[in-house]
Amino acid sequence: MLKRIDLSRDYEKHKEEYLNAIQEVCRETAYSGGKFADQFDREFAEFCKVPYAAGVNNGTSALHCAMMALKIGAGDEVIVPANTYIATAWGVTYTGATPVFVDCTQDTWEIDPDKIEEKITERTKAIIGVHLYGQPFEFNRVKAIADKYGLFVVEDCAQAHGACYEGKLAGSLGELGCFSFYPGKNLYAFGEGGSVTCHKKEYYDAITTIKNQGCQVRYYHDVIGYNYRLEGLQGAVLSVSLKFLPEWTDKRRKIGQRYLAGITNPRITMQAHPKNTDPVFHLFVITTENPDDFIAYMGKKGMECNQHYPVPCHLQKAYENLGYQIGDCPHAEYLANHCVTLPLFPEMTEEEVEMVIEACNAYQG
Ligand SMILES: *Cc1c(COP(=O)(O)O)cnc(C)c1O
Repeated sequence: MLKRIDLSRDYEKHKEEYLNAIQEVCRETAYSGGKFADQFDREFAEFCKVPYAAGVNNGTSALHCAMMALKIGAGDEVIVPANTYIATAWGVTYTGATPVFVDCTQDTWEIDPDKIEEKITERTKAIIGVHLYGQPFEFNRVKAIADKYGLFVVEDCAQAHGACYEGKLAGSLGELGCFSFYPGKNLYAFGEGGSVTCHKKEYYDAITTIKNQGCQVRYYHDVIGYNYRLEGLQGAVLSVSLKFLPEWTDKRRKIGQRYLAGITNPRITMQAHPKNTDPVFHLFVITTENPDDFIAYMGKKGMECNQHYPVPCHLQKAYENLGYQIGDCPHAEYLANHCVTLPLFPEMTEEEVEMVIEACNAYQG
């Protein structure tokens, strides 16, 4: 069975580098934050071409920290796309603010700039754009709306390490960029990890304080803080993987382009990739009339597929209290009801890529 994603191939290939890095952390017992986490922060900032990156314990915390750094709280509203992983909205909710869900476009499946303005109220403080599946959202149009109303733009880059919008890297465009290093993300830790990138020292200082129990000087707590530090072991592993990331991204792009060119079955629709963007194919999502049938068909042929994501945020039970109805975000709902994620990871062989394309094209469903 070809898995949707198989991390064991990377481990087997780079075992020695990973285990050496882990041993070094153990020798120095730099387990919580510390030397290896700090080293990775510097490397990741450099990679994203921003002055600051603050490592945190996961992507959800990164989003929470970003909201807190912008002083978003109870009574505030934040615009969030309806089709994203739920954690994009959690960071808003944790602060006491309310996520306001906006539909995606029909073809890019990214936040629809034409649907944002009608959702802006006096309480709106920020817009979180998500570079969903590794495809940058239409940043300039979102930013123009934000500027018109005096709002912040925050990027959710959890699926977009190394993606480019008009030549600029994800995480360097908005006020703050929020990354996840969950296993299976384009850059991943051996456990949980995340980072917040920014240009302003003021945000960096706020986030490094918040994530570290509210202190910069040990045992002197200036604000109510959280324990959101990046572990030293994860920092060390991430420093190793960051060296492989350009090669992984290159491979993901080649496989993505082969799918785009090779899959010609009219029963399958693929995401649109505007010319001014360079996506990183975190997930290769297609839509088809009957996803369950398609997933079963691929399974029988030895290829694992799954769905990202079967329920849009505005219709999740957790947000029932916000009162959204079916029909409020029709494109996001269509996507949720018809999406299938094809196998895609950097270590796929030529034959496996070909096998996926052939199976897609032979689908008669
Ligand atoms: C993975 C993900 C997150 C959350 O990151 P975690 O590290 O799992 O907390 C947030 N937003 C998006 C779009 C994601 O894909």
